[in-house]
Amino acid sequence: MNEIIILGAGESGVGAALLAKAKNIRVFISDSGTISSEVKKVLEMNNIPLEEGKHSEERILNAAEIIKSPGISENVPIIKKIRQKGIPIISEIEFAGRYSNALKIGITGSNGKTTTATWIYHILKKAGKDVVLTGNIGTSFARVVSERDPKIAVIELSSFQLDDMYDFICDIAVLTNITSDHLDRYENDFQKYTNSKFKITQNQRDKDSFIFNLDDQTIKNNLTKLMIKRGYPVSFSVKNSAWIDENKIVFWFKNKRFEIDFDSLSLKGKHNNYNAMCAGLAALLADVPGEDVIKGLSDFQGVENRLEFVDKINGVTFINDSKATNIDSVWYALDSIIEPIIWIAGGTDKGNDYSSLFDLAKNKVKALICLGIDNSKLLNSFTGIVPIIKETKSMEETIDIAFKIAEIGETVLLSPACASFDLFKNYEHRGDLFKYFIKKMRFQI
Ligand code: ADP
Repeated sequence: MNEIIILGAGESGVGAALLAKAKNIRVFISDSGTISSEVKKVLEMNNIPLEEGKHSEERILNAAEIIKSPGISENVPIIKKIRQKGIPIISEIEFAGRYSNALKIGITGSNGKTTTATWIYHILKKAGKDVVLTGNIGTSFARVVSERDPKIAVIELSSFQLDDMYDFICDIAVLTNITSDHLDRYENDFQKYTNSKFKITQNQRDKDSFIFNLDDQTIKNNLTKLMIKRGYPVSFSVKNSAWIDENKIVFWFKNKRFEIDFDSLSLKGKHNNYNAMCAGLAALLADVPGEDVIKGLSDFQGVENRLEFVDKINGVTFINDSKATNIDSVWYALDSIIEPIIWIAGGTDKGNDYSSLFDLAKNKVKALICLGIDNSKLLNSFTGIVPIIKETKSMEETIDIAFKIAEIGETVLLSPACASFDLFKNYEHRGDLFKYFIKKMRFQI
């Protein structure tokens, strides 16, 4: 058999290379950019041949199979040529799935993937299960499997990863929601993006389970196409597997009822109620006893940069939601916080339509601080809706302005609705700077 070629030497590519090596498959890794010295060291130590700064076409077009990093677009010339030649392209997750007997819990959705996946992992781990958290988060699934196949794998799946998955089966699939995001990668076709998310259910057998948000209109509209036997809807109103009854979540599973009060849930806000319902059901399906599920739902610490509490200084609360890079996630952030809010937004706009935020902004936002190189869209959208609007291009000045405007009992919320690449390396960098300048303020006081 010809060799497998891996395109992209990021975490997924390196993981796939290590797994190929462990399975005695001939492999070559090619990256059009530079490969970091640490990665090179790992590859060289494992005798894995590599190239950087180019893609050697002849070699690549001779491959038996290609494993593509989810970051590489379909429009790149080499990918077009591979497709033309009919060489199969798969994702690293598909590759790893071939060598894993783990119970696979896959999580996808436009928002809430990381939170829900990490929450499921937390509940399972605390319940003493042999479980890893992988996929679009932390260590790649292939690297995990190259070392040891766990009993349970909780796998966060982006739509890009799902696109190149064909035979992979999720024993338990979770679909949190579908709202427009990354549409540029789907020819601005919402149905194409939706189909990609629904690929999480492909190949599911009668014994497999599908947990989904029934209140999400797009999910609801697409359910009829599915052949799933074991569906587990979560909803605020429909009493089926998990739902809301006044101020508590109710689970109905194997003819037993489990409940948890909102007050006992560690993460607040409607969106986290949905995440908790999905996480709880996934854990129940993975055989965690109901009492342990309720416990794990109440003592989960949350994930950095997602409505993360930073500090309370002089009666003002600071919340870091730097990962909120689309409108829907900001809607839930504004909805979950008691007003008045000093809202920090802006960055690289992904074609946002802010109108769904107007009501919340009118009722809750005292001031908007626009943090970006080009703030014109935010300014045009919120002038006349939010009483105070300021503009800045640095995080340091943002915090300075926020401290001047905020009064006792108010909340300063970083929830940008935009990507971070105009002023920051990534959303983590943006969140880190937010926290750093708040800390600096604290010590000056
Ligand atoms: P993802 O991994 O899908 O990007 P995260 O869990 O990292 O999702 O959260 C990203 C942003 O979306 C954060 O601002 C978070 O507060 C918000 N969020 C989390 N869960 C949901 C949800 N179920 N619906 C809408 N927004 C959510």
